[in-house]
Amino acid sequence: MADETEPKKEDAKPEREKPELKDMSDICPIGKVLVFAEHILGDLQPVTLELLGAGRILADKMSQPLLCVVAGHELGDIPQRLVEYGADVVYVADHPELKNYRTLPYRRVICDFLESLPTQPHTMLLGSTTTGRDLAPRIAAHFDTGLTADTTELDIGHYEHTSKVDPTKIGLYPNCLYAIRPSFGESLKARILGPWKNPQMATTRPGVMTPLTREPGRKGEIIQVPVKLQEEDFRLSVDEIVREVSKGINLTEADVIVSGGYGLGTQEGFNLLQELANCFDNAAVGASRKVVDLGWIPYQNQIGQTGKTVRPKLYIACGISGAIQHRVGMSKSGLIIAINKDPEAPIFKFAHHGIVGDCYQIIPEMIKQFKLAKSTSGVKEVVGTH
Ligand SMILES: Cc1cc2nc3c(=O)[nH]c(=O)nc-3n(C[C@H](O)[C@H](O)[C@H](O)COP(=O)(O)OP(=O)(O)OC[C@H]3O[C@@H](n4cnc5c(N)ncnc54)[C@H](O)[C@@H]3O)c2cc1C
Repeated sequence: MADETEPKKEDAKPEREKPELKDMSDICPIGKVLVFAEHILGDLQPVTLELLGAGRILADKMSQPLLCVVAGHELGDIPQRLVEYGADVVYVADHPELKNYRTLPYRRVICDFLESLPTQPHTMLLGSTTTGRDLAPRIAAHFDTGLTADTTELDIGHYEHTSKVDPTKIGLYPNCLYAIRPSFGESLKARILGPWKNPQMATTRPGVMTPLTREPGRKGEIIQVPVKLQEEDFRLSVDEIVREVSKGINLTEADVIVSGGYGLGTQEGFNLLQELANCFDNAAVGASRKVVDLGWIPYQNQIGQTGKTVRPKLYIACGISGAIQHRVGMSKSGLIIAINKDPEAPIFKFAHHGIVGDCYQIIPEMIKQFKLAKSTSGVKEVVGTH
């Protein structure tokens, strides 16, 4: 008997003729990886350490050093700390006018520094922060190169370009920066390649990459770079920087996050979540965008695509459906427990443990049990094991 699964010969598609691929290695040759370091009022921003972690992997893949550039004034031990977090060479642009970030002076200094290098770095990484998002496109425009914003993964790989639209471009491009980011409402992961020109640039979301463990006393080169600013760089002045001090524990640093969504039904539901959070050390309350939009809780508590990216040891989602826009902000949590009264809720597809039921029955019981456990064995250990 004939195998019906076997395609009939006449249905088989003719194999597409593969164009001959020229080696295009010279287009974006292997090179160094450069991280732009960010600091605010002397505080190195966590995203910089995360970028150094990601940059180290890319640099090692090409057997190249990891560079870092930092601009500012009286930077203290920041350059050495950058070395201890993975940079092999740190370039320092020190000038009183660079003390606080300003678009034009920083753009001038970073572009001048890049131009002074004998060859452009292969990759340049910046944080998807207010500063990074402001500076990166200006550098990319200056060098007429590509920039992918808001990446969540980075890699180096080759690309076979076979399109016959421009036959001069047909070829095998090795060493491309794969800048990967969620697209189409976060339903797809897009792998974005630049226009085959170094530096290949990307900004990366804070909280996504993993920093290296600090290696105190690690040796690296620290090089001062000349700063030549021009009058036209001072069209804007910063009189004062005021830092908003958020009440309670910062979500991105919390070990435990108890998060609430529309299923709570009312703003008062967050009091119950706070009570659950109080059962743990270093715990904070988070939220979905829907309840932030309703004004039940401030925007600074929002987790997700347009909120914060978090990776606590424990994430308890209460009355949250698990929309993709929420998921991208919390899916890297160590342990996810979801409480939802709908057994078909999407959150159960990626939570490690799911509890089907009403938040108002389950959370008070959890509080009771955690308090009991704390008074006997200690809840800290429950969290610490995951
Ligand atoms: C461009 C864009 C960006 C976005 N960015 C974000 C973002 O950053 N963060 C974010 O969260 N969302 C974001 N959203 C919104 C997102 O698509 C969802 O609309 C939102 O996450 C839904 O919030 P929710 O889960 O609280 O509400 P719903 O989707 O309404 O879910 C409520 C859930 O609660 C359950 N429930 C109801 N009553 C109870 C009860 N008593 N006990 C237990 N469970 C109960 C229901 O079964 C339901 O699953 C974005 C959307 C867009 C288009």
